[in-house]
Amino acid sequence: MTLVNRLTEIRATLEKSRINSPLAAPETCLLAASKGQPAELLEEAIALGIRDFGENRVQEAYDKWPLLKEKYPHIRLHLIGPLQTNKVKDALGLFDVIQTVDREKLALALSRLQASGFSLQEKQFYIQVNTGEEPQKAGIFPKEADDFIRFCIHDLKLPIIGLMCIPPADQPPAPHFALLKNVALTHGLKELSMGMSGDYDIAARMGSSFVRVGTALFGSR
Ligand SMILES: *Cc1c(COP(=O)(O)O)cnc(C)c1O
Repeated sequence: MTLVNRLTEIRATLEKSRINSPLAAPETCLLAASKGQPAELLEEAIALGIRDFGENRVQEAYDKWPLLKEKYPHIRLHLIGPLQTNKVKDALGLFDVIQTVDREKLALALSRLQASGFSLQEKQFYIQVNTGEEPQKAGIFPKEADDFIRFCIHDLKLPIIGLMCIPPADQPPAPHFALLKNVALTHGLKELSMGMSGDYDIAARMGSSFVRVGTALFGSR
């Protein structure tokens, strides 16, 4: 299958979810998870109308994206991998959206940058919730999420617009998506980044606003 075939299938699935599920968002955007993919393929994806791309590593993104972003200024680049505090400034120099605000230390580093005169207001941030409480995975635990979200929004004044999660690989994802959505509703957060190649249809039916799709779009890495 080619990129265009796979994209057509994903778009059809998202459209079907939107029409058939009362819980679906008005629009579920496709975010192309492009780690490990070469610049030529990304350019092909851009030509097919994909606007949102997610990279996991700041350095890899700098190797691939500065030229492409210059050529296609409408592209929105999302960081979907962990962010070290010493890379915050680099990351904000390239990424439009940081989906992985996952701990107090990072939130404080962003806040200090803001206090030093660096405007974060044209950027967008998501808090990553570790819905499965997996010790090896990033993200704030659900029981700490309410306090952390309030801290980021009210105390630090970070422009948080949504939540992101990566459910445990060995569990049905629906309860994790439901949990994420409930936490978001509590705080009036509109955006939900949830769903990957194996479960983006379920996520879309449950209200995801961004599905992060890698292998189902680009083929295996
Ligand atoms: C790689 C990655 C994806 C996409 O995974 P696929 O299963 O290939 O669709 C989504 N989210 C994050 C955070 C990733 O690292």
